[in-house]
Amino acid sequence: MPTLLWIQTGACSGDTMSLLNAENPDLLETLENYAIELLWHPSLSLESPLELNTIINQILSDEKQLTILCIEGAILMGPKGTGMYDTFLGSAKKDIVASLCDKATFVAAMGTCAAFGGIPAAPPNPATAVGLQWSGERPKGLLKPDWHSSGGLPVINIAGCPAHPNTMVQTLIDLTLLGKSLELDDLNRPKDFYNTMVHQGCTRNEYHEYDVEETSFGLPSIFVTSAMRNIMTILVSSKPLNHLKVNFTVKQFNIPRKSYKL
Ligand code: SF4
Repeated sequence: MPTLLWIQTGACSGDTMSLLNAENPDLLETLENYAIELLWHPSLSLESPLELNTIINQILSDEKQLTILCIEGAILMGPKGTGMYDTFLGSAKKDIVASLCDKATFVAAMGTCAAFGGIPAAPPNPATAVGLQWSGERPKGLLKPDWHSSGGLPVINIAGCPAHPNTMVQTLIDLTLLGKSLELDDLNRPKDFYNTMVHQGCTRNEYHEYDVEETSFGLPSIFVTSAMRNIMTILVSSKPLNHLKVNFTVKQFNIPRKSYKL
């Protein structure tokens, strides 16, 4: 039976909140339908940190198999490379994560922080945050650039802040079913999901067509001139906004268009 372990590092829990919005199938259906045993998840499991420690030790001593390791959040290397800004029962999480990565068949970085360092790695980056295998656009994270899990893949980067729930769940299914034949792009993201510009299919695209430019957050138009690079980003289509259901209120973006003179 495939197993799944979810560990949070320098995270805001946004990807977990997003994950809970997955639909068709949702997370629990996925675990049930694909017979995946959830070893531990910080928001879903009842086991205490001490019990998690037992699970980790069982994995590290090969008593328990780990099929998919999901990491949410940036890896905090500071201060001075010790990793002691982010600890679990007195040990630096960066070391625990590195050890678990070497035991897992597949490793998925859930969200931009885990994949590329994200917001915690923004200058001046006081905690020396990095991604699991990348830092920004360079393959220079916690793990070496040529690192591969025992399943033959590098860290699978599920970019997004937060990552899209259906992308996360579908990747778990793909890893369970396809394993190492999962195709990745040049940033190690699954090609099946990261193949369009975020602009394509955007429900706000028409505002751009009519040159209605956003002037502040919460208005139903679009940040084009201020986010030109953003709209050209290759990312999961922004059309299905499921990840916003819990994290934010979609309604604030849902002001009827007729209230605007185009
Ligand atoms: S990628 Fe975004 S949602 Fe995920 S932990 Fe980082 S800041 Fe939070």
